[in-house]
Amino acid sequence: MNFNKPLLIVVSAPSGAGKSTLCNKLLAESERLVYSISCTTRKPRGQEQDGVAYHFLTEEEFVARIENGDFLENAIVHGNRYGTLRSTVEQALKQGKSIIMDIDVAGAAQVRDIINALPEHNLIRDSFIDIFITVPSIEELEARLNKRGEDAPDVIQKRLNNAKGEIARANEYQHIVVNDELERAYAELCKILAEASK
Ligand code: ADP
Ligand code: 5GP
Repeated sequence: MNFNKPLLIVVSAPSGAGKSTLCNKLLAESERLVYSISCTTRKPRGQEQDGVAYHFLTEEEFVARIENGDFLENAIVHGNRYGTLRSTVEQALKQGKSIIMDIDVAGAAQVRDIINALPEHNLIRDSFIDIFITVPSIEELEARLNKRGEDAPDVIQKRLNNAKGEIARANEYQHIVVNDELERAYAELCKILAEASK
């Protein structure tokens, strides 16, 4: 993917929908696109490294950064804190790069409020796009979470329970992509982004 115009991209999905798979493919195949590394109080999963997948913080560290006003948005998801640092987004935009933020529905609503408060035809406002990635069915979501095999059964149940509420908010997004078949969904995602960055 070539971005003619830098974009501020928000992507949300129920856990297990394939958002990381799609975003990683996009990042590998795009120039001048960076991934917004979030902070979280969740423990590292699988091979996740600090400063790559996330900045892993303790509860105390996370709360201190909230109090310091460091976050653009933050939310509690599946019982853990997650947040995007203002500095992460500012740095990408200053360098004229596109940035992809993988955040939950509550965080996306916070970003949308910030964007909507900007004047019309503001550069950041014009670069904003949000996309909801979903699955053909809840059964398929459960199958993917089990296949990934990185979460304990109770964590998978928590994620499935949250999925219904998240999917109910899909219509808050400008675009919805159903990740049924990976290559097809990826092509649709690229088409949406290419159109937005014209
Ligand atoms: P998320 O980041 O949304 O939590 P992942 O990208 O980790 O989800 O994907 C969850 C699991 O589903 C992974 O094992 C991944 O390989 C698989 N997966 C992703 N997209 C598809 C697809 N279109 N069809 C079948 N399996 C998929
Ligand atoms: P996971 O634990 O599977 O990596 O992520 C769980 C959920 O947290 C996903 O829905 C993901 O989009 C969301 N998330 C990750 N980073 C952030 C963030 O910085 N802010 C918000 N609000 N949600 C995030």
